[in-house]
Amino acid sequence: MPADTDTAPAAVVPARRTAPPWVLMYHSVAEFTDPAEDPYGITVTPRALEAQLLWLRSRGLRGVSVGELLRARAAGRGAGLVALTFDDGYTDFLTHALPLLRRHDCSATLFVLPGRLGVDNVWDPLGPRKSLLTAEGIREVAAAGQEIGSHGLLHQDLTAATDDVLRQELNGSRDLLRELTGTLPDGFCYPYGHLDARVVAATRAAGYGYACAIDPGRLAGPHALPRTHVSQADGGFRLRAKRLRHRVRELRRAVHR
Ligand SMILES: [Zn+2]
Repeated sequence: MPADTDTAPAAVVPARRTAPPWVLMYHSVAEFTDPAEDPYGITVTPRALEAQLLWLRSRGLRGVSVGELLRARAAGRGAGLVALTFDDGYTDFLTHALPLLRRHDCSATLFVLPGRLGVDNVWDPLGPRKSLLTAEGIREVAAAGQEIGSHGLLHQDLTAATDDVLRQELNGSRDLLRELTGTLPDGFCYPYGHLDARVVAATRAAGYGYACAIDPGRLAGPHALPRTHVSQADGGFRLRAKRLRHRVRELRRAVHR
């Protein structure tokens, strides 16, 4: 045991906490005119997405995948990055979102359902029906440099799943995505944002490096990242308010931890 004078100083508390990671949540990018056509509020038009990307860029922010954001933060290079996520794996990611992301030098994470390739969002009873990417489409997204994460196999509420089903949704989807893209996915996204301590522990045990939630409360952490839902109505003013709300919430969480 070295003398006190030889030991390293006690852990230094940074004078200023780094800003918490900001992760935005999208689903579908498609044309629509009447909000009644989008009862779950999961669609933004290409025009709205482009305005939102321009707003981010005007604030000195660049949208990247969650994996890239977390790696950059770990290396102390996270300033100016915000993560963009698209849930469910709709075909309109390829046709509408990807060209805009490229135009504005951004990238994203797409959370897909390898148990529902090439079908549609049957879990949303009110519709509208939106087509999901095929295996080929997912490979195309991956080849375009976007991160592919798992959203499970079938879009089930995992808090209601048996242990066997939970394992299948987590491990089975991860294995299928590796077969499909050649890369083991590092990220998971909880369907409906539903999670509990058992689901979070199983996700970590399945080997995922991170997982996205929506508002995970006390479970917040690398396997329950809070996200900000971005809607068609979000212009610069509302995005600014959402960014502030996120910062306040995360700082409060850090204080209570
Ligand atoms: Zn979903």
